[in-house]
Amino acid sequence: MPALRVRPNVTDYGQACRDFSWQRARSLLSGLPHGRGLNIAHEAVDRHVLAGHGDRTALRCVAADGSAEPVSYAELAARTGRFANVLRGLGVGRGDRVASLLGRCPELYAAVLGTLKNTSVFCPLFPAFGPAPVAERLRLGGARVLVTTEELYRRKVAGVREGLPELEHVLVVGPYRDPVPGGRSLEELLAAAEERFTVPPTDPGETALLHFTSGTTGTPKGALHVHEAVVAHHATAATALDLHPHDVFWCTADPGWVTGISYGVVAPLTHGVTVVVDAGEYDARRWYGILAGERVTVWYTAPTAVRMLMRASPRGGPAELPRSFDLSALRLVASVGEPLGPEAVRWGQEVLGLPVRDNWWQTETGCIMIANLASDEVRPGSMGRPLPGVEAGLLARGPDGRALVEDGRVRPVAGPDEVGELALRPGWPSMFRGYLHDEERYRACFADGWYLTGDLARRDRDGWYWFVGRADDVIKSAGHLVGPFEVEGVLMEHPAVAEAGVVGRPDPVAGEVVKAFVSLRPGHQPDEATARSITAFARRRLGPAIAPREVAFAADLPHTRSGKVMRRLLRARELGLPEGDVSALETPAAPEARGAEDGTGAGSAGSAGAAGGAVPAGDAGSAHPPSGEAAP
Ligand code: AMP
Repeated sequence: MPALRVRPNVTDYGQACRDFSWQRARSLLSGLPHGRGLNIAHEAVDRHVLAGHGDRTALRCVAADGSAEPVSYAELAARTGRFANVLRGLGVGRGDRVASLLGRCPELYAAVLGTLKNTSVFCPLFPAFGPAPVAERLRLGGARVLVTTEELYRRKVAGVREGLPELEHVLVVGPYRDPVPGGRSLEELLAAAEERFTVPPTDPGETALLHFTSGTTGTPKGALHVHEAVVAHHATAATALDLHPHDVFWCTADPGWVTGISYGVVAPLTHGVTVVVDAGEYDARRWYGILAGERVTVWYTAPTAVRMLMRASPRGGPAELPRSFDLSALRLVASVGEPLGPEAVRWGQEVLGLPVRDNWWQTETGCIMIANLASDEVRPGSMGRPLPGVEAGLLARGPDGRALVEDGRVRPVAGPDEVGELALRPGWPSMFRGYLHDEERYRACFADGWYLTGDLARRDRDGWYWFVGRADDVIKSAGHLVGPFEVEGVLMEHPAVAEAGVVGRPDPVAGEVVKAFVSLRPGHQPDEATARSITAFARRRLGPAIAPREVAFAADLPHTRSGKVMRRLLRARELGLPEGDVSALETPAAPEARGAEDGTGAGSAGSAGAAGGAVPAGDAGSAHPPSGEAAP
């Protein structure tokens, strides 16, 4: 049966941009009853129940064995109410931080939305992180509550718990056998809790979400988002993802990152659609099976995932695998998080019957900013055009590769196709409102009325944007930002390591993988055994998602005059680029999948994440990073 085609929400881009206002977008939501404010969870769940749609299916939870359990909006309202009451019963209230370390499971939805109902702040963590990054984020975030499984707690938190005095409660999802300090069985607490919960008055400007992201230096950055962000989640799910009320939507992003929450939980539910929640791991056959079996209409995934599927079912090959599934319900495939090469777009067209539509955003923007719309022609390789309500610009760069700010003023690039730093005019509702405990770093993101994204791009004559690279040293591996500083810090705790410099090495599937250059302390040999010991140490501490895949030795690492390791020079050497031209170095757009000849293995790629939301997990090498930690 051919897919039921619907009229796209945006049919005339120019008109939609002219007609759009955030105020009008806000008016499409209901707000809390009796004018008590705006709360994300109310918009995502309760308002559908109040409108008489409680029996609609909110979630289809697909278990590892492929069986699917439906959860209605009414049931989700009850579960989130229970979770909010559990928090209240524990004395956890407004502004308190509730962290999660969970895979995709129904409890995640109760935790995110129940926390928001309670006006506490939800902070998701990536289960493929090792103990060091988990502890760092729990500590920085000052989490009072952690929702996790017993196994994840034992592997990631138990050993670092002493350094987390603020963590009072551990709500254990699933079996709870060995007592942990402050631990309670979530199932038991929920069963004993009342399902009715009146959401307290919520100011739209109140903090709702805390998402950690990585920079080049310093600690991870905690981007703060407010309840009003839901206006942008709702609006962009309509414009960029073209959601309609009867859609079946599947977002493959890991819930530990911003995409997994913004578009895996919030945005689709605000539209009252059915959300597919897959607890299983990446497997091409399984994924095609879900697309077909659940009659998915709109699919949001990531380039690494697409490249993994391309390997499993190459274009021009027999493509037997997807052909043996009925994908006729699918009407939109979108991807985010890393460059999507033109080849991937064309592969989608030939093998899935639809082009893969790239879009762009980042943790700080909180929602999709630039996209190839459903009604647009696709320009393979382009990120698309700014969404209605979004003003984007490209700023001329200075010698450091970032936007040049002189006397507080910036300058746009001279003309089409000139590379500049991508900038956005603040004012959209999901714009981050600060970095936790780091006002200075936040302020440094703005100049002359623009938010500076740190990405380099060009715009063609017709207004389509093309990603060029990062303007900094941050690594994008399998869709997830990796802060080189965080990795270097852990490497230097290894007894053999004197100094470390960490860079991204291009990889045909993951986009980039983490590579470390280290110099050794006296008495240590630059041999295989040392490299193995350093790699194993890093994996234990950092987790497979961000630990270096490779370690190389250097007698001396190159330094800037101020003594910092010159990652760009290391990268230039790695890529065989001229060293003298280091200032011109940019991250090349992701290489297109080249088939199976590289030895890295898609599965060992990294992790799943953020705006990069969707993919392959470091852990078991799956596009759904579960909690296991198989070595690559
Ligand atoms: P995160 O904050 O972890 O979501 O990562 C955001 C970063 O991912 C952006 O600043 C870009 O560097 C990269 N990114 C996101 N979407 C795209 C895209 N469509 N093409 C290329 N890079 C992207």
